[in-house]
Amino acid sequence: MSIVVEQLARRFNRGGSPAVSKVSFQAPEGAITSLLGPSGAGKSTLLRLIAGLEIPDEGRVLIDGVDSTQMPVQQRGVGVVFQSYALFKHLTVRQNVAFGLEVRRVPKAEREARVEEMLRMVQLEHLGGRYPGQLSGGQRQRVAFARALAIRPRVLLLDEPFGALDTRVREELREWLHALHERTRLTTLLVTHDQQEALEISQHVVVLSEGRVAQAGSPSDIYDRPASPFVASFIGGASVLRGHVQAGRAAMGALSVTAPAAAREGEPVHAFVRPHDIKLAKAVAGAASASTATGRVERLKPVGGYVKVFLRLPSGDEVTVEVPRSEFDALGVAEGDSVRADVRSATVFV
Ligand code: ADP
Repeated sequence: MSIVVEQLARRFNRGGSPAVSKVSFQAPEGAITSLLGPSGAGKSTLLRLIAGLEIPDEGRVLIDGVDSTQMPVQQRGVGVVFQSYALFKHLTVRQNVAFGLEVRRVPKAEREARVEEMLRMVQLEHLGGRYPGQLSGGQRQRVAFARALAIRPRVLLLDEPFGALDTRVREELREWLHALHERTRLTTLLVTHDQQEALEISQHVVVLSEGRVAQAGSPSDIYDRPASPFVASFIGGASVLRGHVQAGRAAMGALSVTAPAAAREGEPVHAFVRPHDIKLAKAVAGAASASTATGRVERLKPVGGYVKVFLRLPSGDEVTVEVPRSEFDALGVAEGDSVRADVRSATVFV
């Protein structure tokens, strides 16, 4: 494990709630680990504590097994890329990439060779003489990566590196980062609030909420087996249904699915249902089954190729369903209508 964080805590305002509260996790060596959570969850603070840009009130940071908690930034062997490119405007691309090497007094010949190697790595060898102001946002961010990688860091720390870019460029750079990581295999921490980004490019995900770890695991652990209603709704927008164990089944009103083996009779349960795991039909009397619920359409929200349907169940729980546009048109439902919701029970996680 090349980044280990133990019981890390940082509070900015005395008496206020801590930005990071006793956080422990391990970032597997050679993998991309995402720190994922909503705004204010403490992601950036955590990254800055690992980078050495903040000092924790409590806890330890180990990089490659070395306790780096009190170590100055330059000695940690970390490459950092921020959302705002933080390039030096008055320096050329080449000079920007060389910056960390000059600070570390790398001899000129080696420095120049390393800068060219880095520019090739980020496919900007033809733009070395330009100034940051003469580059696109995506190109600037690749310069920031080249500068971070030039010092041959042991770990790469990325704070929303694509957050300031438009959707199309962001998707391109995601692919690009994936390919770059395939080549370098550098242990990487990626701060993001975008669950799609985290699930797409990382092998390990640490979900943060209010300064704490809500869940850590592989993308499929997080998506298929959420540890809490928070994780279920934050990742993949699952609806949470409340119910109880009855005769070995998790019963949520008329709807019931197999209960977990360890569940005891009468115990309360939460069932998580994803928006595309429900099929809607016109309410027909007598069509009820264990995987069917009837609900009232509270609100419809067209979103490009599909329509989000917000249903209220008799239990009071709200369920979000995503219906492809063509199916929705064929269905012909309006706000206020009663509809039948058929749940793919195999996909429900209790
Ligand atoms: P995230 O990156 O998940 O959006 P941050 O780590 O930026 O979250 O912030 C976590 C909390 O700490 C927020 O409530 C934020 O306002 C607070 N915070 C972050 N940095 C500072 C600072 N330098 N001074 C005071 N409060 C801060």
